[in-house]
Amino acid sequence: MSKIAFLGLGNMGLGMATNLAQNGHTVTGFDPSPEATERAASHGIGSAASVADAAADADVIITMLPSGKHVLDVYADLVPVATPGSLFLDCSTIDVADARAAAELAVNAGHRAVDAPVSGGTVAADGGNLTFMVGGPADAVDQANPFLEVMGARVVRCGDSGAGQAAKICNNMILGISMIAVSEAFALGAKLGLTDQALFDVSSTASGQCWALTTNCPVPGPVPTSPANRDYAGGFASALMLKDLRLAQAAASDTGVDTVLGRRAAELYEQFVAHDGPGRDFSAIVTAIRAGALGTDPTPS
Ligand code: NAD
Repeated sequence: MSKIAFLGLGNMGLGMATNLAQNGHTVTGFDPSPEATERAASHGIGSAASVADAAADADVIITMLPSGKHVLDVYADLVPVATPGSLFLDCSTIDVADARAAAELAVNAGHRAVDAPVSGGTVAADGGNLTFMVGGPADAVDQANPFLEVMGARVVRCGDSGAGQAAKICNNMILGISMIAVSEAFALGAKLGLTDQALFDVSSTASGQCWALTTNCPVPGPVPTSPANRDYAGGFASALMLKDLRLAQAAASDTGVDTVLGRRAAELYEQFVAHDGPGRDFSAIVTAIRAGALGTDPTPS
């Protein structure tokens, strides 16, 4: 069993760290939020007074933090003092370039580094059912696998450092675009006299079929478990979708790829979050599309 430092005990980190502790690992956590630390302590996670204290004697250092800047700051503090040969495992969703920079810091100091962002949200984090998209050298990924398998149900190695983040933001760019497409279809269908159920019955088994329609259906009714049936509470927050679409745009700009729909999706989610707030499930964008509250096209240049 390993000594694990877990940094970032928020909505996702708490469940992930708890599953590791319940699996017999010694987990010491740090989070600047006293409430998060207290909650973690009640789940069998040791509390440290600082990032460095949490990592003292740890052989695995897991981060689940809000942004690339948080990850790079923590790595800058820990890489020089961590036990030689430690495994740095970052599960946050961050910029591909930041993920590569963080891994380089760790590897240059003689450690191993893996980026392993997740798909699945808090229910999957609590239940140990996350999907991990993993980037890093094969031997480091092999070392990370037993921990990922405790926290997740599926682990996919996508390539070298940064490849996990690349897969995550490309996937979520598809998701953001497809949710807007499905929402526009429901808005148009209603104006043409179609019921939501009729459109769903056709598209869910025809060529318009996609996860945004058949699992996370943005209108109440056709899929009783979708967040639309509980006023879009829970689910995947619009602010997180906006974050991921912005990361995709940063990567598109770095690589010179023109992702026209990805860019437009980021703009629409930006307007939506400003209008509706950050917290509701991202499928709530259908309410703004139906109300005509979004969508002014940028002036053609
Ligand atoms: P969160 O804001 O609930 O948790 C982040 C935690 O990090 C907070 O408790 C914060 O106090 C802590 N923190 C900040 N600086 C720190 C530091 N220096 N050391 C230790 N802890 C620090 O966010 P979350 O929802 O748990 O998301 C975490 C990451 O997972 C994000 O990158 C997010 O994009 C990604 N993610 C979230 C979801 C989701 O459904 N919530 C799904 C997939 C991926």
